[in-house]
Amino acid sequence: MTPTLELALELIRRRSVTPEDDGCQALMMERLAAVGFNNEELRFEEVDNFWSRRGSEGPLVCFAGHTDVVPTGPEKNWNNPPFEPAVIDGMLHGRGAADMKGSLAAFLVATENFVKKHPNHKGSIAYLITSDEEGPAKNGTVKVVETLEARNEKIDMCIVGEPSSTSLVGDTVKNGRRGSLGAILRVHGKQGHVAYPHLAENPVHTAAPALAELAAEHWDEGNDFFPATSFQISNINAGTGATNVIPGELEVVFNFRFSTELTAEILQQRTEAILDKHGLKYDIEWNLSGQPFLTDCGPLVDASVQAIKEITGRDTELSTAGGTSDGRFIAPTGAQVLELGPINATIHQVNEHVSAEDLDTLTEIYERMLELLLAAD
Ligand code: ZN
Repeated sequence: MTPTLELALELIRRRSVTPEDDGCQALMMERLAAVGFNNEELRFEEVDNFWSRRGSEGPLVCFAGHTDVVPTGPEKNWNNPPFEPAVIDGMLHGRGAADMKGSLAAFLVATENFVKKHPNHKGSIAYLITSDEEGPAKNGTVKVVETLEARNEKIDMCIVGEPSSTSLVGDTVKNGRRGSLGAILRVHGKQGHVAYPHLAENPVHTAAPALAELAAEHWDEGNDFFPATSFQISNINAGTGATNVIPGELEVVFNFRFSTELTAEILQQRTEAILDKHGLKYDIEWNLSGQPFLTDCGPLVDASVQAIKEITGRDTELSTAGGTSDGRFIAPTGAQVLELGPINATIHQVNEHVSAEDLDTLTEIYERMLELLLAAD
């Protein structure tokens, strides 16, 4: 049993279903304090978070992640109980094994090894850990980042431990994410009898050409790191259920996944210009759930590529695909951010598992990255 695996087992035994932490953070802080970190507990409402730092100089390299896990569903559906971790045929089984208690254990052991070899390293190492990543994400990373910003404490480089790998550990690093902008559009008309359309105004008829134009619009070309921005309608509703009533209102829910070629403001303006051009009477509620971000080159990306090559022999692929992560809250501060973690094949599933050996490989990659970024030569 390796140190990373032992710690991963200890973390998985704590039933930290979001937003619970169940002692995971206390365990991590104890280990960090023992190697010279200063811990700061940052609880917001029912959410435990902590910030921990070793050193006072820049550059500041931060490990970011979450101790909460998604619910298990009925435990009887699991081959092995989700909070009684076990290594079976080289695979560590348990809720959070891949997302992301395995990465947390690898962060910690890598840090301990690095600090032992380089007690007088350059810059600083920090941890930003939340128990509100899998839930609403309102009292977690976003609040810790606000606290840091308020006192002008800046993260220069951030490694998020989300499971980024596809089929072999280290094969993929996420160096950015698309933005996500949602909207609820309500088009107003006038209800009436279908036999007397001159006395009514049908919002389905007035909206249809505008929606067709939105669906056909070419928003951008994307760029080297992002596919073209996409617009998708997810819900559309109008009508009373009766066959002889012209509806008074049409509701459309849609979402943009957008590249760094555009901003949310530009998308809003262009959408509303199309709606206005068609003379619609409407109101629209926008919800920006994440800005796009990209860390396309620089010391952090270089260190990840080099460390992965040295430890695994693999040429890693930089990718911006997939859903959002807490990186969206850290990147806007100007930090370089990337996600590097184990294989994501079973995350959020029954029988979540991860290769035990991969967690040790990941530990070596993180330690090598710290060396490349912070070892004093
Ligand atoms: Zn996660």
